[in-house]
Amino acid sequence: MTKLTLALVAHDAKKDDMARFVAMHENALRPFELFATGTTGSRVMEKCASLSVTRLKSGPLGGDQQIGAMIAEGKVDVLFFFVDPLSPHPHDVDVKALMRLALVYNIPMALNPATAERLIATFDS
Ligand code: PGA
Repeated sequence: MTKLTLALVAHDAKKDDMARFVAMHENALRPFELFATGTTGSRVMEKCASLSVTRLKSGPLGGDQQIGAMIAEGKVDVLFFFVDPLSPHPHDVDVKALMRLALVYNIPMALNPATAERLIATFDS
């Protein structure tokens, strides 16, 4: 059976939440092929050594766009993008472009842990 691909992205203020979330759901996430933007991926792997995560470039250096391109190519099944709504981001255009492509291609996208939690439950059975 081919694995579903889950892409992980978290803004700086949300990286702890992402690492904690993945650690808490390590077993549920094991069946997924995991991709992440650079720093998010590092933080997740520090916390969950048993999971293998393919790290792309850091978001501001093109990682968000790499995930967007994967979405456009049909290579992402689910996106967890933990967004910090309280800080300005120099790469805001990339952030918007990634969300836009997830919408265009109708990819299940969780923008916070509460939604990710519920989304994971739908894949659990
Ligand atoms: P990062 O990128 O994981 O490399 O920090 C995320 C982002 O787009 O801010």
